[in-house]
Amino acid sequence: MEKPNIAIIGAGMTGVVCARNLKDAGYEPIIFEKSRGIGGRMATRRTSEGLQFDHGAQYITAKNKRFQSFIDTAISAGCATHWKIEEKSTFVGRPSMNSLLGLAVEDLSIQFNTEILRVQKSKHGWMLSSETQNQFSDIVVLALPAPQIINLIGEHNSLSQELTNVEMKPCLTLMAAFPSNKGAPFITRRKPDDDLAWIAQDSAKPYRPREMTCWVAQAGDDWSMKYLEYDKDEIARILTPMLCDRLRVSSSELLYSSAHRWRYSRVTKPLGKSFLSDISATLYVGGDWTVSARVEGAWESGTAISKAIVEQM
Ligand SMILES: Cc1cc2nc3c(=O)[nH]c(=O)nc-3n(C[C@H](O)[C@H](O)[C@H](O)COP(=O)(O)OP(=O)(O)OC[C@H]3O[C@@H](n4cnc5c(N)ncnc54)[C@H](O)[C@@H]3O)c2cc1C
Repeated sequence: MEKPNIAIIGAGMTGVVCARNLKDAGYEPIIFEKSRGIGGRMATRRTSEGLQFDHGAQYITAKNKRFQSFIDTAISAGCATHWKIEEKSTFVGRPSMNSLLGLAVEDLSIQFNTEILRVQKSKHGWMLSSETQNQFSDIVVLALPAPQIINLIGEHNSLSQELTNVEMKPCLTLMAAFPSNKGAPFITRRKPDDDLAWIAQDSAKPYRPREMTCWVAQAGDDWSMKYLEYDKDEIARILTPMLCDRLRVSSSELLYSSAHRWRYSRVTKPLGKSFLSDISATLYVGGDWTVSARVEGAWESGTAISKAIVEQM
């Protein structure tokens, strides 16, 4: 029997691990990714000043032994490393968060800068429409935040009902840099009740540039909701003095600051199972939002989808 065409939308952890497993099982999946790189919310911002910030996922933890083994393989390949936060053992991509997927994406077909705008069933299979082309595929995997999936398949699709029950929260994130000789009261700080719920000295992670001290600060849920639609420069302008206050440094020391808006940052009401598929078992949807708000949840979802596709053949 001829192998089906498989299209995967999204080159974050979910999409990449799904594609990797399918490729290893003898399929030739193609990933469509709207941005110019891999990693999705495992994101790193590089600036023209030579600064680097992991402004999405901060670190990775592994409970599942198979996910730990995925991380161990990435560490052996030089794509990830340990980062000890106080007494907690965590992992980060090396030298940036999305490097974690560096080994997994090798020899995968990925079409970057391609935003899929619509996914519809047609007599030639699933039609994936972007601004410039229509692609057809026998099987489609949507590895995106749940609300973005509804936008692609439409609210009348049979899967959309369950997807609307999933809730995801936004997160406004500040990236800021100070001269390297500045002392700091902490390396990481989590304070859910503070407007800056998480602050981390990103440049303290291993294999990061150290010329300046780079910080990533995440606004809490309420603050992020309140300022969600503000202009990003305005968000940075408001968050910067708040960060200076927490770090006890003067704003006059600031060398760089900018903000990022994560509209769908983390799930607060997950689906409760690792993916959904339609009745024809040709449309699969998944992501971290299925089981947990973590990279490990995305890995679990992508793994489960690839297993289901291979088993149905
Ligand atoms: C601020 C923040 C902090 C976090 N901190 C942590 C942490 O410390 N530890 C942890 O484990 N997790 C953390 N997470 C969560 C973690 O980043 C996610 O769980 C994980 O990266 C999700 O992977 P994914 O593949 O499911 O989705 P994503 O990473 O969102 O990947 C989806 C991909 O699809 C692409 N895409 C979207 N729409 C389209 C389209 N229409 N066409 C083509 N491509 C499209 C996107 O560009 C993206 O690359 C954090 C997330 C955020 C935002």
